[in-house]
Amino acid sequence: MRKGIGVSPGVVVGIAHRVESVLGSIEQHRLDHPGQVPSELERFDRAVIDSAADLETQIQKVAQELGDSEANIFKGHLQIVNDPSLVSKVHDLIENQQMTALSALQSVMQTYAAQFARIEQDYFRERMSDVRDVILRIGSHLTRKPFLHVNGTGESRNGDESVILVAHEILPSQAMSLGDLPIAGIVTEVGGSTSHAAILARSRGIPAVSGVEGVMTEVESGDLMIVDGRDGMVILRPDQEATSAYRKVQREFFNIKDRLVANRDQPALSADGTRVELLANINNLADAQASQKVGASGVGLFRTEYLFLTHPDVPGEEEQYEYYRQIILNSPGQSVTIRTLDLGGDKTVPYLGRRSEPNPFMGWRSTRIFFENSKLFVTQIRAILRASRHGHVSLLFPMITTLEELLYLNKLVKETRNNLRREGVPFGEDVKTGVMVEVPAAAICIDAILRETDFISIGSNDLIQYLVAADRDNPKVAHLCESLNPAIFRVLQMILAACQRTGTPVTLCGEMAGQPRSVLVLFGMGLRRFSMSPAFIPTIKALLASVSTAQAERYAHHVLQLNTNDEIRSYLTARLHEVSSTLEMFDTV
Ligand code: PEP
Ligand code: MG
Repeated sequence: MRKGIGVSPGVVVGIAHRVESVLGSIEQHRLDHPGQVPSELERFDRAVIDSAADLETQIQKVAQELGDSEANIFKGHLQIVNDPSLVSKVHDLIENQQMTALSALQSVMQTYAAQFARIEQDYFRERMSDVRDVILRIGSHLTRKPFLHVNGTGESRNGDESVILVAHEILPSQAMSLGDLPIAGIVTEVGGSTSHAAILARSRGIPAVSGVEGVMTEVESGDLMIVDGRDGMVILRPDQEATSAYRKVQREFFNIKDRLVANRDQPALSADGTRVELLANINNLADAQASQKVGASGVGLFRTEYLFLTHPDVPGEEEQYEYYRQIILNSPGQSVTIRTLDLGGDKTVPYLGRRSEPNPFMGWRSTRIFFENSKLFVTQIRAILRASRHGHVSLLFPMITTLEELLYLNKLVKETRNNLRREGVPFGEDVKTGVMVEVPAAAICIDAILRETDFISIGSNDLIQYLVAADRDNPKVAHLCESLNPAIFRVLQMILAACQRTGTPVTLCGEMAGQPRSVLVLFGMGLRRFSMSPAFIPTIKALLASVSTAQAERYAHHVLQLNTNDEIRSYLTARLHEVSSTLEMFDTV
């Protein structure tokens, strides 16, 4: 049994399929004699041409299916493939050291990795996974192994057995290609809850565990394994007893999921008829479409970073306008809360000239960037205000720490509106502005913030990491970052009470909004707007339908008297069991 972090709930028993690196086990090989050099160079050049062709196709396919901004990731890869210095480095090793093309490629990848590591850590993290992606793609043409080399496919003991992907990490383009494969579970050695693998798993509603150190050395393709995304547990080669117990749970999980989707057209109500809004968190067009399918009543959080992360430079106003317009038109009820750029922390782009920082989550991130670069903000606001004519749009500012920051951004929005009016450019006049409460300083001074905002949205992912002083993506301190914590509930209670006093609309859009045990308490504290990954909406709708308002209020009242995470966890586990034992497996720790 191995412990990691449960990043997407549910249980699956299946056959492991290792995602191999095509370059993984290559030793340094030399050509037999110098006469082979020209043909080896040609073989390498052909692999580069084929990789570029793949990427061209991929760009078109992704642009059609997911939109232009998602295709940018591959445009960036195409630039790397076409980079003459990559090609000339490999040529040099083939010509002067008589290395095989594959060995030369491996050696160049190591050199790049070393260089990137020396330059700047964040930059390295961001760009090296793209470079590695491209090099693996070229390598796959040289070896004629498929790019996403899932070893063992077709050798499973049973053709119907679920496929569990086991990888060191899932690279960006692999995450995209996984869209086509019938995968039932994902286990990775690295990555936290915001890794590509986690996002992919959650959006597809499949169980996933990350941060399982050493799993790639312990598991072979074809091994039976169990993934329990509820508590981040992985069981390798389970015995008969565990296998049949978990198979039963897995069957239940699928049955319940199938049944739950049928509730998409029903209103979200508690057992005694209190109305609740269940909204979706989205990153791109595909998520917007998914949120319609599960019956979300709108988009509570649209993270606009994705457009910027998959773009080679700052996207211009027109491109942003068109992107936001598409998102709005494809969202449920054309109702979207658009969050302004929240880069930094674990999401960096090379073109903003960000220096390496020792504590990026506490650094120059999110709205803090706009104080040096107001043009970035104003361009985005212009695009959003213009696109807002196509639906019901609200603007949301992340990471607000002080009242001065909020006043400054409000002023920029007001000036932008005036400028658009003066220029005669049409835009939506009724766009509300809101603040994400995710920094403890803003939570503590909530009364002052509420006087300057139309609504708030609680970003519990960041609020928790800052309250407990533990990096949300570091598996070593993941136990501290859990939401079932007395300090978190007390702060949330304080924020909700302030909103109730002033009649300010409030949504919670962190991961807690999709976790059944947390939802019981939040609903009991009076929260009525929950925004979550679309895959969780059917579950939360079913949960709320099984609990009355008075019952949830009692739970919340009791939780606020408890002093340890353990007490809260066991109390809520028991309550969830009473309310709906079938929904227990949809929780993660
Ligand atoms: C949050 O911090 O809770 C949140 C919703 O935003 P993100 O996860 O994008 O930081
Ligand atoms: Mg946040």
